[in-house]
Amino acid sequence: MRKNIVLLLAVLNFHYAISTDPEIEAEELKARDFIQFLNKKTAENANKASLAHWAYASNITDANLQNQLAVDAEVAKEDKQYWLETIKFNWKTFTDYDLKRQFKKYSKLGTSALPEEKLNRLNKIISDMQKIYSTAKICAYDDPEKCNLALEPELTNILANSQNADELKHVWLEWRKAVGPHCRKLFEEYVDLSNEAARLNNYTDNGENWLDSYEDPQIKQQIESLWEQMKPLYLQIHAYVRFQLRKKYGDIVSEKGPIPAHLLGNMWSQTWRNVAKFTLPYPEKKDEDLTEELRKQNYTVEKIFRTSEDFFKSINLTEMPEIFWERSILEKPKDREIVCHASAWDFFDGKDFRIKQCTEVTIEHFKTAHHEMGHIEYYLQYKNQPVKYRRGANSGFHEAVGDLISLSVQSRKHLRKLGLLKSETDDPENTLNNLFQIGLDKITFLPFGYLMDLWRWDVFSGKVTPDNYNCKWWELREKYQGIEPPINRSEADFDPAAKYHIVASVPYIRYFVSFVIQFQFHRAVCEKAGQYVPNDPSKPLYECDIYQNTEAGNALKKMLQLGSSRPWPDAIEVLTGQRTMDASGLLEYFKPLQTWLEAENKKNGVFIGWETSTKGKNVMIK
Ligand SMILES: [Zn+2]
Repeated sequence: MRKNIVLLLAVLNFHYAISTDPEIEAEELKARDFIQFLNKKTAENANKASLAHWAYASNITDANLQNQLAVDAEVAKEDKQYWLETIKFNWKTFTDYDLKRQFKKYSKLGTSALPEEKLNRLNKIISDMQKIYSTAKICAYDDPEKCNLALEPELTNILANSQNADELKHVWLEWRKAVGPHCRKLFEEYVDLSNEAARLNNYTDNGENWLDSYEDPQIKQQIESLWEQMKPLYLQIHAYVRFQLRKKYGDIVSEKGPIPAHLLGNMWSQTWRNVAKFTLPYPEKKDEDLTEELRKQNYTVEKIFRTSEDFFKSINLTEMPEIFWERSILEKPKDREIVCHASAWDFFDGKDFRIKQCTEVTIEHFKTAHHEMGHIEYYLQYKNQPVKYRRGANSGFHEAVGDLISLSVQSRKHLRKLGLLKSETDDPENTLNNLFQIGLDKITFLPFGYLMDLWRWDVFSGKVTPDNYNCKWWELREKYQGIEPPINRSEADFDPAAKYHIVASVPYIRYFVSFVIQFQFHRAVCEKAGQYVPNDPSKPLYECDIYQNTEAGNALKKMLQLGSSRPWPDAIEVLTGQRTMDASGLLEYFKPLQTWLEAENKKNGVFIGWETSTKGKNVMIK
């Protein structure tokens, strides 16, 4: 406490001393007017651009693409002009923190720094890759004539529900064939152009550009050390699931090797929730299947989103505006192609906010609805900030809000409140089953969330080159996730492109960050709600549900309202009292599961970790 006061005095002194310089004062005065003008223009342009992007994403036609590209070009041109004005200011000498911070943000021009033709090309490439991804279709395993299977919903459902290893392999391979090779050349060009833009903004490459938004030169090391902290937990769940999968599928799952990627219930093996049905710790204590329960109780898509909204409202956050319900696309249209990948949109006019999601009545979509609404809630909380602050404290924060709410929703307490769980008791075996299923979502995601950008950072820096794109991808998949492809891969394949964020040029480390800090946030709000008390076995973190707790909600709100007006350590401190990201919340949450997994793996003599894959994925066709 004392240290803070001293620091504050020092800042005041400093401020006083500098602000007496009349020249700087005069320039700051001018700069304030300019920023006001710039904020207005920037919001208008962001509105225009978002509308054009929405039009294309919600109706993939050539005309909409042309329009989107034209709007992007026009906005880029204006941005460049304003940027030239911006950098004329001596903003680095400004004493007004807020003014200086906004100038700093405006001093980065982004891809608009590219010459017009190259910028158009870059935008076109990204749209084209997205189109390939969003419109790809494959044929059914048991019916070669039926060739209209899309990622959402058909392929996702097969991966989630089929227990036929051959069918799973077929779908896994065909999806990659339908997307990967078609994107490879485009992706190479995308890498070059993105790097060129980054260099025009004084970064060494685009990876460095992406990481700059964290405002922390040590961010890579921090992430690596967070991963190291959580890795032992991952190794335990990995070993346990491999053991169970081997029981189910036999020798195609080796005893000590990586797990075949197509058997984990998800197209990218990024979350494994769908294998819970045959890997539960206590199968005889199985609860209701939540997807079945949603359907039995006549949940509609709208009811899913209303249920989510109700939670946000119950903790004193803001309800969705009328326009949200009018303009969102919450179901897959039958009459046209759209980008089904779920997303939440801010139209930068303080009124218009929408979600686009091809929602199905399943527990996955139920959680995704909460996730996307978390983005909208963040938009609503910071909508009165200057336009450059209308962002997450860092992008991981943005991904964490809805997931944080989901952690309460998934507690047995809350599932019971929703009527989705019938049993009245919480014996340790039920509790562990539930925790295991959440672990299949959260723990298994961590290495995937990390390696997506490990790969891209190396691609942008040139360490990974086009002639080893796919090999390096699988090296990381094996090293971090301990998975292997169902058959040999080569450089004729391009498997990274089978994941949306690669083709859509969306950085991914934010999800890793989110999966860590959402537990840190959860611990903080639960302590405020009096639902979690450290070392009190009657109030464990995994049972906390902050529903209707306005004290918890208000604390969260305070952090969200900051937007990115302060560096993220300031924001995280508002909620948690800590200034760093910390994996101990996650580890605390899963402690009973980790203890159980360690004992169970030991009992079964299960090998922990994995030996090198025998799939010969590094055989290259040149
Ligand atoms: Zn998101």
